[in-house]
Amino acid sequence: AARGIVQAELAACPAGRWLDHPTAARLLGCYGVRVAETVAVRDAGAAAQAAAQVGLPAVLKATGPELVHKSDVGGVRVGLRDAEEVRRAYAEMAARIGDAMTGALVQHQAGPGVEMIVGGVAHEAFGPLVMAGLGGVTAELLADRAFRVPPIGRADAARMLAELRCAPLLHGYRGAPPVNTAELAAYIIGVGRLMDDLPEVAELDLNPVIVTPDGAVAVDVRVRLA
Ligand code: ADP
Ligand code: MG
Repeated sequence: AARGIVQAELAACPAGRWLDHPTAARLLGCYGVRVAETVAVRDAGAAAQAAAQVGLPAVLKATGPELVHKSDVGGVRVGLRDAEEVRRAYAEMAARIGDAMTGALVQHQAGPGVEMIVGGVAHEAFGPLVMAGLGGVTAELLADRAFRVPPIGRADAARMLAELRCAPLLHGYRGAPPVNTAELAAYIIGVGRLMDDLPEVAELDLNPVIVTPDGAVAVDVRVRLA
């Protein structure tokens, strides 16, 4: 199934392109990685409706061809409690960001949990490489990461997480409940299998994966084909 998705995308599109959100989510689903239900909308009214569909509280994210780091331009609003708040958040965002915003994504708000990053890259010399680390908007700044060459087994994934400086955050830091590291490990293993199976995938980035006591869900996914 994953090969079919990649083949269809490669046939349809020029190289170096990023998969659209639904396609990336389907591809990751083939490897057991759950991506938050996401509805793409083009106006405030549709955003409000979508929020009811995914379930409140909702998160609204601006989209547009040039918008890569959405939170850098104030393009992410969390904690929207009802349809009216979603409608207003869309209107505010559209007014502030202007023409660069061509629509938005609406998701159910995940968590609270620990924000982690799981990534994959097809390295020119080493081949596929999988990364796991502390995620969220400070991921680049703090660069708390572990790398492995797939295939990655259960013990490898557990060791990657244990290597991180942020590891204590996963095990119930300062009274917080421990989060589901088994599910996070399964995502790392799944990304390893994906990178091994599909050399066409140049780059893959799940940031963040929100890990809660019950499970894990990727809320921001990027997949680039070579
Ligand atoms: P970008 O990386 O483009 O700035 P993200 O989609 O990663 O945008 O969102 C930025 C931050 O917003 C995340 O790190 C997280 O803290 C929060 N966030 C995004 N989506 C959700 C969600 N569905 N549930 C809870 N928090 C979210
Ligand atoms: Mg992100």
